[in-house]
Amino acid sequence: MEIMSKNRKTIEELQQLYLEQEDNQDIPMTYTCKAQIEMLDVRDFGWKYESCRVCKTKLDEDHMCKKCGVIDEFPTQRYRIVITVKEGDAYMRIGMFDKTVEKIVQMPISAMIKISTQQYGDEKVHERFENCIGNSFVFKVQVNKRGFTQELTAIKVFTLDEEKEDNQTQSTDLTQTLVQMATNKRSATEIEASTSISTHQGLKKIKQEKLKGKE
Ligand SMILES: [Zn+2]
Repeated sequence: MEIMSKNRKTIEELQQLYLEQEDNQDIPMTYTCKAQIEMLDVRDFGWKYESCRVCKTKLDEDHMCKKCGVIDEFPTQRYRIVITVKEGDAYMRIGMFDKTVEKIVQMPISAMIKISTQQYGDEKVHERFENCIGNSFVFKVQVNKRGFTQELTAIKVFTLDEEKEDNQTQSTDLTQTLVQMATNKRSATEIEASTSISTHQGLKKIKQEKLKGKE
């Protein structure tokens, strides 16, 4: 699970790459970056779109997918938001879709759509998104080829707790010690518990052991 720390960059480093990408038409690369959500504006940019079931492309008003050339009568609703994240004094915009959005709002899109249909639904939805502001995540982002017109895209998001766990598994010595300690503690508790609920049998066993000790 070293995905989280793979190609770790600061926002400033990413911005540099972003500019370099403009000149050379390299294959998009992925990086990870730890940052805090500074802005999340769903009022102006929206939060979902109707997508083609086959290729996920945004459908036009007639539910037509220009890529597949077919009309999708039952389009899939997908999350799509644009966020601004910060790290120190540096800021950047990231486009986010589907699962990555689900992770930061902690809600599948079906539930969010349900909320939006309630009374004051739009306000409630905005509130849900605004609650994410100030939270930090590790973003795995992809630098787009056409970097100048498009934001970076988040292809995966990790919580800081997940990062912590990841770091722990990497420092094996410390982890092993911690696990050992936890196991010892647990078995001690288990013994305690089994002793307290033990009735006849347990007592008998203790007696037997005592006798053994005497022998
Ligand atoms: Zn399509």
